[in-house]
Amino acid sequence: MFEGEPLLFNGWQLFCTVNHYRIVADAIVNARTLLAPFFYRRSVIVGPQKCGKSPWGAGMLLFEAVGPSLFAGWATGSEIYRCSDHGCGCGWEYEYLPGEAMGAPRRKSLLGILAFAEDQTQNVYEPLQTMIHSGPLAEFVKVREGFIRTPNRGMILPMTAAAKSKLGKPLTGALGDESGLYTSANRVLDTWQTIRRGVAGMQGRTIELTNPWDPMENSAAQQAFESRRPDIFRYYRKPPTDLDYRKKRERQQIHVHVYADSPWVDTKSAIDPEADELVETDPTQAERFFGNRLVQGLGSFMTDELWTSCTTIDEPTGPICLGFDGSKSGDWTAIRAETRDGLRFTPTYGPDARPTIWNPAEWNGRIPKGEVVAAVAELFDRYEVERFYADQDPIWGTQIEEWALKHGEETVIPFPTRVIQRMYFALDRYLNDLVERTTTHVECAITRTHALNARKVAKPGDKYILGKPSEHQKIDALMADVLAHEAASDARASGWHVDTGPAYIRLRR
Ligand SMILES: [Zn+2]
Repeated sequence: MFEGEPLLFNGWQLFCTVNHYRIVADAIVNARTLLAPFFYRRSVIVGPQKCGKSPWGAGMLLFEAVGPSLFAGWATGSEIYRCSDHGCGCGWEYEYLPGEAMGAPRRKSLLGILAFAEDQTQNVYEPLQTMIHSGPLAEFVKVREGFIRTPNRGMILPMTAAAKSKLGKPLTGALGDESGLYTSANRVLDTWQTIRRGVAGMQGRTIELTNPWDPMENSAAQQAFESRRPDIFRYYRKPPTDLDYRKKRERQQIHVHVYADSPWVDTKSAIDPEADELVETDPTQAERFFGNRLVQGLGSFMTDELWTSCTTIDEPTGPICLGFDGSKSGDWTAIRAETRDGLRFTPTYGPDARPTIWNPAEWNGRIPKGEVVAAVAELFDRYEVERFYADQDPIWGTQIEEWALKHGEETVIPFPTRVIQRMYFALDRYLNDLVERTTTHVECAITRTHALNARKVAKPGDKYILGKPSEHQKIDALMADVLAHEAASDARASGWHVDTGPAYIRLRR
C-alpha cells in the first residue's frame, strides 16, 4: 500500500471485511431493522504488531462513512452501483451479479474511534487522514481540526475515555483501538461499553482491533472472545503451541505462522530483529506483540483503589526530596517530589507554574532540555532539597554530573533503575508504604495515569521491574515518583527527620 494507490484488502484484511459484512440468506430491506441483515453484530480482530490493523480500521471507517455499508436488497442482475450517485467523483461503478447482496450508504454516519490514550488516537486517525488526502475522497470528505466531516453533516471523531463531552454523541458506528487494554481498572472498559450500547441504539455496528491481551486483566477484547454469543465475529490466528518463543529459531517459525495471513510483511527483515530486541528487555510483551500469543503477565503494578486511597488535599510544606526520570524523545521526562512527612507531589516551575512533567509530543517531539534544567535550578532555589535521585540514564548522564557538581554529590545521586535488585526493592518499598499510608500524594492526573499504566515485568528470583503495556502508555512520571520516595525514605533513614530545621518553604521572591 503506497500513498495515492487504491487501498486493496488482502489476506486477513479481506477475510475480516467479508465476514464483517456477511449478510444472512433471508435478509430483507427494512429501514427499521438496519442491523437484521448482518450475520455479525460486531467484530473483534486480534493480530500482532505491524500486520496492518490500523490501515484496515481506517478503511473500514471510511467505508462506513461514505461507502455502501448497509444492505440494499438482492440483485437480479442488471443493477449497477455508481459512486457518482452518492456524491463521489471517483467514477467507480460496479455491476452486481444476480443474487448478490447490494449495498447503500447510510444517509448520515457518525463514527467514533476510541483509543486508550490521547496520543494513541493517531494509530487509526493518521492513515485515515492520509487516505482522504491522497485520493478522490478529498473532494467530499473534509479533514477538520479534531474531526473529519463527512457528507450530510456526518463525522468521524477520535475520542478517549477522558473526553467525556464527546461520549454523548449518537454514533452509528465505532472502532475500538487496542481493546485488549480496556479494563475496568482503567475505566476504559466502561467507556467502550457505553459507546457500544449507544451504537446499537442507532442500529450501528462496532469493530475492535487489538494485540493479544493479558489474560489476567479481563479486558474488553478478552470478554468478547470468551463470550458465547454467536453474533460476534472473532479473528485470531494463534501460533502452534509446541513452539517456544524464547528460542530464536522457534520464535522465527512463530512469526512465519502468525504473519502468514499478512503476506505483505517480510518477517525476516521487519519482525524478527524487533522481536529479538524486545525479548531481551520484556519477553512477555514481545511474545504478545509479535508472537501473537495470550501471555499472562504479572499484572498491573498499581490499582485504582490503592492510588485513590492515598490521595490527600494536604499542602506540601518544608524541605523535599526529588526523583527524576529522563528521556530524550519517545518517553516523557518527569520530576516528582516528596516532603519529609511523606507527601508526594508534582512540583511546578516557571512563570506559568507548569508541572515538571514533559511530554515530547508537546515540544516538537523532543524533550526540551533547557526547560528541565531551568526547572531543576528553580526547585533547588525554592526548596531545601535534601536528596535528588536521578535515573542513571546515558542520555542525561552528563547533566546529572553537572547537577551533582553544583548541588553536591551527597545530594544529587544517580540511581541505577536498570539494576533489578535496586529497582525491585525500591518498587516494593513504594508499594508497601502506600499500603501502610506512610506516604500519600497530592492528586496529579498524569502520575495517576502513568501509575495505572505500569505493568510488572517478571525477573529472576521472584523479582520484578516495571514495563509499559504499549509504546503509547507511559510510566515515566511513576518512575520519578518511585525515585522521589526512595530518596526520601533513604534520607529519613539517615536522620533527615531530626537534623533539619523547621518546616518551611523558601520562596524565591
Ligand atoms: Zn467513489
